[in-house]
Amino acid sequence: MPEQVTNYKCIRCGGPLHFDAKEQKLKCEYCDSTFTNEEIETLYKTANEAAIEQSYESDHADRLQWSAEEAKHMRAYSCPSCSAELLCDENTAATSCPYCGNPTVVPAQFHGALKPDYVIPFKLDKKDAIKALYNFYKGKVFLPNAFTDGAHIEEIKGIYVPFWLYDGTADSDMAYHGTRTNSYTSGRYHVTETKHYKVIRQGEVRFKHVPADASSKMPDEFMDALEPFNYVDMVPFQMSYMPGYLADKYDVTAAENSKRADVRMKNTTLDTIAATAHGYLTLVPEVERVHLSHDRIHYAFFPIWMLTTRWNGESYMFAMNGQTGKMIGDDLPVDRGKFLLYFLGLTLLFGIVLWFLLLR
Ligand SMILES: [Zn+2]
Ligand SMILES: [Zn+2]
Repeated sequence: MPEQVTNYKCIRCGGPLHFDAKEQKLKCEYCDSTFTNEEIETLYKTANEAAIEQSYESDHADRLQWSAEEAKHMRAYSCPSCSAELLCDENTAATSCPYCGNPTVVPAQFHGALKPDYVIPFKLDKKDAIKALYNFYKGKVFLPNAFTDGAHIEEIKGIYVPFWLYDGTADSDMAYHGTRTNSYTSGRYHVTETKHYKVIRQGEVRFKHVPADASSKMPDEFMDALEPFNYVDMVPFQMSYMPGYLADKYDVTAAENSKRADVRMKNTTLDTIAATAHGYLTLVPEVERVHLSHDRIHYAFFPIWMLTTRWNGESYMFAMNGQTGKMIGDDLPVDRGKFLLYFLGLTLLFGIVLWFLLLR
């Protein structure tokens, strides 16, 4: 029997609910009724628990019909709205049904050891993301049509990306060679005096919630560039923030990812300590000892809008921070065909003008 998923439905009309970034509530796509996360969580508590239970009991009989390779990475769910069978990646935690379009959440992917601690809910909606994308394209006259096609732009997706948040302490011992100079005129001489200092610093820097994304699908440099996220909006995780967006559970473990967080903690420590040694003309580090000790690790979901465009065998990514609006994108290509047409058009126009002038 396929595993269970949840579709959140409107209490008034039964229409599909999604988490609305503007209202910060769940909103019905049919009648526009809104409900708080708490109302919906209470209502679906039993249904979600049943779904989790069933996922554990499921004998995965369906998987037997697939090839071994497929079965390893796929899962089958039954859509509660249209009862179609949904085939998902093993990491899928929130998606939409390809048949009826209803936002769908997989409760078992947020349960037990997989239960997230926090979520930063979407603040910016699809309209904001599309506007940012058009701004990104602005002035790029030779951009291939594949990018600007309306239907393609509509495919921009809101994704909750899994992150590990690391707490830790860095103890540091530093020694620098610092210099200060003093210039003055003495009689016929111009004197420059250089004083040399041994600068010693010891310090402790504490870190809370240093983020590193926990999804192998997301390019690390893109995710880092979309920071910072503002933790003021971070709330305890509830599943009802998920409907209407995509989410994958983590597939990079906290241990695998800790190196990335360590590098950031170390670099920040070096910068912070060095910044306390001011007033020197030059400051060259001679000893830099940083000892990191780890504390708690939290699991969180952060909001990102994303669109990938394939053109000429290459893929180009555009992404926007779904909380702050910070955006990044790959360098955009130039359509040589368009460029050539433009160039030919100009030449032709020039030819016609010249011809008129000569005829007069
Ligand atoms: Zn409704
Ligand atoms: Zn469906």
